[in-house]
Amino acid sequence: MATLIERDKKAVWHPYTPQKSMPEPIPVVKGDGTYIIDENGKAYIDAISSWWVTIHGHANPYIAEKIYEQAKTLEQVIFAGFTHEPAVRLAERLLEILPGDFARIFYSDNGSTAVEVGVKMALQYWWNKGNGKRNKILALNHSYHGDTFGTMSLSNRSVFTLAFQDKLFDVIFTDAPAKDAPLYDGPWDEIACFIYEPLLQGVGSMNIYDASALNKLLQQCHAHDVICIADEVMTGFGRTGKLFSSLYAEEKPDIICLSKGLTGGTMPLGVTACTNEIFDAFYSDDLHKTLYHGHSFTANPLACAAANASLDLLLDESCTKAIARIAQRHEAMHAQWNNHPKIKEIRRCGTIIALELNTGETHYHNGLRDFIYNFFIERKILLRPLGNIIYILPPYCITDEQLDIVYQTINELLSNI
Ligand code: PMP
Repeated sequence: MATLIERDKKAVWHPYTPQKSMPEPIPVVKGDGTYIIDENGKAYIDAISSWWVTIHGHANPYIAEKIYEQAKTLEQVIFAGFTHEPAVRLAERLLEILPGDFARIFYSDNGSTAVEVGVKMALQYWWNKGNGKRNKILALNHSYHGDTFGTMSLSNRSVFTLAFQDKLFDVIFTDAPAKDAPLYDGPWDEIACFIYEPLLQGVGSMNIYDASALNKLLQQCHAHDVICIADEVMTGFGRTGKLFSSLYAEEKPDIICLSKGLTGGTMPLGVTACTNEIFDAFYSDDLHKTLYHGHSFTANPLACAAANASLDLLLDESCTKAIARIAQRHEAMHAQWNNHPKIKEIRRCGTIIALELNTGETHYHNGLRDFIYNFFIERKILLRPLGNIIYILPPYCITDEQLDIVYQTINELLSNI
């Protein structure tokens, strides 16, 4: 009988992975809280929440139960012409807690599509209003918004986008706002929308930028009627210490995009929320003003049930405490790691801490990245460095002991490079 790895090698193509040089994937049979467990019973600490999604850890029994109950009742239904309790309830709950004056929830099924919908809403808003001049998009250098053609266009051009360069549409890029730097000033009356990852650019090296400078840029956008789209796909649901990182700025977005932690990382789901003003531009007898966008699995009931369950856990006091505890532990380690000769810079925000190593190399494909990844895997820890940047982004259920293991293993690495 062929092993799972042999069968995988013959049938599967893995994401973000050079297939020829691909090391053997780890055959996973189980998840349990912070742990990913392989077929030999080896338990890995998932210190990056499996691509930033599993905020309550793996196989959370409460969420699992809610998905199971939902699966026995209604697993999927077309969301055009039909509705259901889990989707309506989730929309109502999100509207209560989202950072801004949001009025409507539009569902899709991942982070890229949540962003695509946000940008389509903003562009069509101006089109519906008959303002054809407002068709440019402003985005930040080093941003990342997804892997579809639209979201690649909005993202930093890199090795990820190289092969598609001439198929991507033009976007105006400006530096992430900084305290004493001049703010972007451009052809405002041609700009439809500004898209940004509030406070923290994840894929862009875990770059943390100034909240007050962001606030000023958002004010400037609003002064010129530019629609502000917060991509909180990564930062949402407590990740940066507050429920949403938009809460760090006073000026609020008009559109917000969510995914990843939305369902506690259990099911794929995307959400794009907008204000009443934006919704109103689509509320018309003119059929051309409809948002003609949808996915087969829009508002999938299982995913919505999972998201409602995840919200129950997230809004419980114990989760708020866990987030604060992780942030405090990171803060203490930050103090210890400060001035370490092997560390060029430490960036920290809520439950995230990132160490930029002193190697002079930042390219995604440098050899150090693979060395670091393997170093941790051999020690049963999943950390996936971004080039020479190691970051911890754990599930909120990680214990102090498990965090200690991760910190100590990083110390071990620092004395080995
Ligand atoms: N926006 C941001 C800020 C992200 O970090 C990501 C994924 N890392 C996406 C969008 C795309 O999400 P998905 O991978 O679910 O398409």
